[in-house]
Amino acid sequence: MPTTAVRRVPRRLTAPAPGWTTRADVVVIGSGIAGLTAALRLREQVDKVLVVTKDQLAAGSTQWAQGGIAAALGPGDTPAEHELDTLVAGAGACDLDAVRVLVTEGPEAVHELIALGARFDLGLDGELSLTREGGHHRDRIAHAGGDATGAEIQRALIAAVQQAPEIEVIEHALAVDLLLAADGGVAGVTLHVMGEGQRDGVGAVHCRAVVLASGGMGQVFSQTTNPAVSTGDGLALALRAGATLRDLEFVQFHPTVMYLGPDSVGQQPLISEAVRGEGAFLVDGPPEDGGRRIMAGVHELGDLAPRDVVAKAITRRMHETGRPHMWLDARHLGADFWERRFPTILVTTRSHGVDPVRDLIPVAPACHYASGGVRTDLWGRCDVPGLYATGEVACSGVHGANRLASNSLLEGLVFSRRIATVLPGELRPWATPAPDHRVPGLVAGRARAELQETMTARAGVLRSAAGLAEAEAALERLAADEDGVGQAAWETTNLLTVSAALVAAARAREETRGSHWREDHPDRDDVRWSGHVDVTLGPRDGDGVNVAFVATAPTDLPTEPAGGAR
Ligand SMILES: Cc1cc2nc3c(=O)[nH]c(=O)nc-3n(C[C@H](O)[C@H](O)[C@H](O)COP(=O)(O)OP(=O)(O)OC[C@H]3O[C@@H](n4cnc5c(N)ncnc54)[C@H](O)[C@@H]3O)c2cc1C
Repeated sequence: MPTTAVRRVPRRLTAPAPGWTTRADVVVIGSGIAGLTAALRLREQVDKVLVVTKDQLAAGSTQWAQGGIAAALGPGDTPAEHELDTLVAGAGACDLDAVRVLVTEGPEAVHELIALGARFDLGLDGELSLTREGGHHRDRIAHAGGDATGAEIQRALIAAVQQAPEIEVIEHALAVDLLLAADGGVAGVTLHVMGEGQRDGVGAVHCRAVVLASGGMGQVFSQTTNPAVSTGDGLALALRAGATLRDLEFVQFHPTVMYLGPDSVGQQPLISEAVRGEGAFLVDGPPEDGGRRIMAGVHELGDLAPRDVVAKAITRRMHETGRPHMWLDARHLGADFWERRFPTILVTTRSHGVDPVRDLIPVAPACHYASGGVRTDLWGRCDVPGLYATGEVACSGVHGANRLASNSLLEGLVFSRRIATVLPGELRPWATPAPDHRVPGLVAGRARAELQETMTARAGVLRSAAGLAEAEAALERLAADEDGVGQAAWETTNLLTVSAALVAAARAREETRGSHWREDHPDRDDVRWSGHVDVTLGPRDGDGVNVAFVATAPTDLPTEPAGGAR
């Protein structure tokens, strides 16, 4: 496997020497469903758990989740059926053992969340109200507040943490880098805290284990459904510490995200698939002016084709027409229907000057979910001793090449419980951080916009060897743009690091599979590409990242499902 052309990947972030220190047995980085679940379970078993989080507790993706959380909870449903749907969505690239863990432990994990205080929607019979989403063959999506599932889960978890005095929380604390002991294992983490008094600026937390729960990396791309905190910090920090990143090329793009103009970067409003489910359709211009339907003749399901198919069709048409977006025509649904069925989306679109009762909604695909992440085993362990990863930052193997709808909240729940099972028995002895000889580096915050544009244009929905090579050249140039220390530069350096790894993985995988679409290799190739692309940092400064292929058998072919037939 070739090493990437991006050679200037910083090996640690330039930061002031720690001005304060503290200690905790376990540091949890991140306060979404993954981080808070881990903290709540660990506090019963270790002396001191410290949760650090970059913004306020609720700032991650968890609170934005709309649809719900998937688990075999309904009458007649089984983990085996959930397993099969997950494997099919994952397009042959799932880890079967990890999927079995997810689907068999999922129902109990959801019941524990309910016992903790999360209020899910109930049917008239008082049982959980379950719905269905794309790719599921059963009603198995539990939801809360209609389309506000994540907000309710986040609320319940924060309430529980606030009643747990054993858990210390530091908000506005950005994890910069891991501190490593002489054996290469975890000895602590450096933090930048925007605080007051003793804990202000950069400090060091000495600890015996770190649970990485820092969420996704949607901000690598210009437009994303992810919030501002999703800058891939955990992926970059783990890579710099010696961990392996896996399946990074599998990024899920949501096809219908509202386009707010060329200058609108960062988090954009999601226009739910349900709007197309109710009859809206995609066009390349106003039909009254000759605009054509985009999905006609593309797929038998038309506008309700799978997400990756719709995202690809929109992108192709954008390239052909040179336009930055396409449109969703939902005018015929009428004012009454809009107000009754999609009140939240209606308010959002109107707040941006688009009335979907009268206007076409401008939409374009945007980054939605990272199926890959820091490689873990079935207990959340990473390659670095004392480092565990869970939630969207992790690659446990459950998503493969394409996440099945509503499996991500469940992954955070299930694997955080697992980490809490093994971690207390594996706590490392207290260790002094070894002298850090890694060469520090930093990319200027002003490089972010060009980086995001490059990644969207060259490594987004549609990829090719030529485009990915252009992306690498641009990233290498941007990596030379060094400037002042601070959050903007730290985040931009992390975005560059993740981008370099993602592009290297996408360039290596010369096939089309799940959410990874190579225009120059349009077919799935099980002979050459059944398995995973792993990315590590090269051994010396200036080496860039290394790419390795780990072959496995495809997992979406008929298997013997766990515990019963489909
Ligand atoms: C609009 C939207 C809709 C979605 N709908 C669904 C759905 O219906 N069902 C489903 O299953 N999934 C859905 N998802 C995906 C799902 O919400 C996420 O995958 C999941 O919430 C991730 O949880 P997490 O705990 O891993 O990360 P997050 O909830 O993103 O939390 C990450 C935490 O890490 C913190 N952090 C980041 N970097 C640092 C740092 N350097 N130092 C300290 N802290 C840091 C963040 O501030 C945050 O607290 C959706 C996502 C989006 C964006």
